[in-house]
Amino acid sequence: MFEDAGKDLVESVLCIVAHPDDIDFGAGGTIKRWTEAGVKVTYCLATNGDAGGFDLDFPRELMPQVRQEEQRAAGKVLGVSDIRFLGYQDGQLEVSLDLRKSIAAVIREVRPQRVLTQNPERNFARIFSSHPDHMAAGEAALDAVYPDARNPFAFPDLLEAGLLPHSVEEVWIMSHGQPDTFVDVSDTLSAKLEALRCHVSQETDKNNQLEERIKTWLEANRLLAGWEEGRFAEAFLRVTTN
Ligand SMILES: [Zn+2]
Repeated sequence: MFEDAGKDLVESVLCIVAHPDDIDFGAGGTIKRWTEAGVKVTYCLATNGDAGGFDLDFPRELMPQVRQEEQRAAGKVLGVSDIRFLGYQDGQLEVSLDLRKSIAAVIREVRPQRVLTQNPERNFARIFSSHPDHMAAGEAALDAVYPDARNPFAFPDLLEAGLLPHSVEEVWIMSHGQPDTFVDVSDTLSAKLEALRCHVSQETDKNNQLEERIKTWLEANRLLAGWEEGRFAEAFLRVTTN
């Protein structure tokens, strides 16, 4: 049940999500533990988060660049520099064959043992985690893991482009109602908060309430994990795909 990042490591993890800041909210402390242990972590973001922000006067055409830069700054805090943006329209993500193919191409390029992604099912206990884009990204990522990335005859032009099939070993799903894997992020909580504060355009730390909000979530995960008080946990559902 307890993922000890020190003993259960893989070489390469690919995180597939809809928007800038999704990874930092759901798994920032875990990502920091992995990169500190030498794991190569790559981000694949389906959109640029171009429907984000709150300032009605800010030129919308500049938002994709702003949010990409914010995500790159947040990635730097957590030790991640390989960040890929697929460029789909924020707020309109669908589980299309095109999205599946784009993600399958990244999986074949990066060749990770583990994929970390969003929950394709609506979580009624945490309705804001169930943004339609999040569910679409999670569904398309799972479709890309199985069967698209491993089947040489799925999207034959990928093979023609030299992208050989690849089988991912396991998928970790964020924001799931019945998580079975917990990572102790007590030591990386400050890095997670620093990464989240990089998303300035989202007013992530409005009224300085971020730390309190995040600690409440991580405390709830800690209770689910059955750990003693004072530790913080990020929670995932782990799915074997090999
Ligand atoms: Zn999001």
